[in-house]
Amino acid sequence: MKFTSCPEQSSVFLQERSLILSRPCKFAKKSLHFTQLRSGFSHNLNPQISRRFRLRILFNDTVGFSIARTLGYALKLTSLSVLQDQIISCCQCNRLTRWREKVAREKRAAYRDQEYWGRPVPGFGDPRARVLICGLAPAAHGGNRTGRIFTGDRSGDWLYAALFRAGFANQPTSQHRNDGLQLKDCYITSCVRCAPPNNKPTPDERDKCLPYLLKEIAMLQRIRAVVCLGSFAWRVMLRGLRQLKYEVVPTPKFGHGVEAIFGPYYLIGSYHPSQQNTFTGRLTETMLDIVFERAKKMSVSKKT
Ligand code: SF4
Repeated sequence: MKFTSCPEQSSVFLQERSLILSRPCKFAKKSLHFTQLRSGFSHNLNPQISRRFRLRILFNDTVGFSIARTLGYALKLTSLSVLQDQIISCCQCNRLTRWREKVAREKRAAYRDQEYWGRPVPGFGDPRARVLICGLAPAAHGGNRTGRIFTGDRSGDWLYAALFRAGFANQPTSQHRNDGLQLKDCYITSCVRCAPPNNKPTPDERDKCLPYLLKEIAMLQRIRAVVCLGSFAWRVMLRGLRQLKYEVVPTPKFGHGVEAIFGPYYLIGSYHPSQQNTFTGRLTETMLDIVFERAKKMSVSKKT
C-alpha cells in the first residue's frame, strides 16, 4: 500500500491557520499601546514636529511594528509546520518504518474499513503553549491509525478528558484528525514518532528521534511546564534537556507527581494514562487532574 502525505488534513495545520488569522488584531492592539508610549515620549523632545507629522510617524510605527510582530509569528508557525512535514516523511528507523506500515496494511478487525495513517505522528496543539505534554510513542491502532497523537485509543480518552476538565481542550474527546478538537496553551508530543512493536523502541530508535523533540522544544518558546507521561518520557526528557546543557544533580527519579527544575522548565512526572494504569486504579482521574492543575500553575510561575 502506498501512503501519500496529506498535511492539509492535519488538525494542527488547520489550528495554526486559524491562529494566523486571529493573532494580528491582538498584536496590533498591543503594539499600538507600546508605540503610542514610545512615539509620545520621543516626539515630546522635539516640539518643532507638527501634530500632523507626529500622527503620520505614529501610524507608520504602529503598522510597521504590528506587521513585524505578525510576520515573526507567522514565521514561527511556518518553521513548526516545516518540522512537522520533516517528521511525517521520516524513515530513518527501518524496523519502525516496516512495523508502522505493516500495522496499517493489516489493520485491526474493528477498523477494517478505515484507512490507517501509517506514518510518523507529529506533535499537536497550540504553538503558543506554555504547557508541554510528552508521551512515549503513538499507539499502533491509535495515533498510527488516526494520524494524531493520543487520538482514537483509550489512553487518549483519558488524557483529553482530563485536558478538557483543566481547560486546555475545547472538547473531552479525540476520535479523529478532523473532529474539531483544539488545544489552548497546551502542546502534546512524544519521544518517538512511530508506533513501536510492544510499545518498546530500541535505544537507537529513541536517540534517532530525540532531535525532533529538541527542535520542537526550541520552537515552542513559551513552554515552561513539561508533563512527562510515564518513566520512559521522563528519562528521555532528562536526556534531551541535558543535551540542551541543563543539568540537575542528583538525577530526579521518576514517580507520579515528582517535580524538578531544569533551566527555565518545570518538569512534572505522571503515570501514563494507559489501560494498564487506569484499569488497575494506579492512575485515577483525580490524580491526573492534580498534575494538570500543577502544570497550569507552574507554567505561569515567575520563578523561571
Ligand atoms: S521513530 Fe522518529 S527517527 Fe525513527 S523513523 Fe520514526 S520519525 Fe523517524
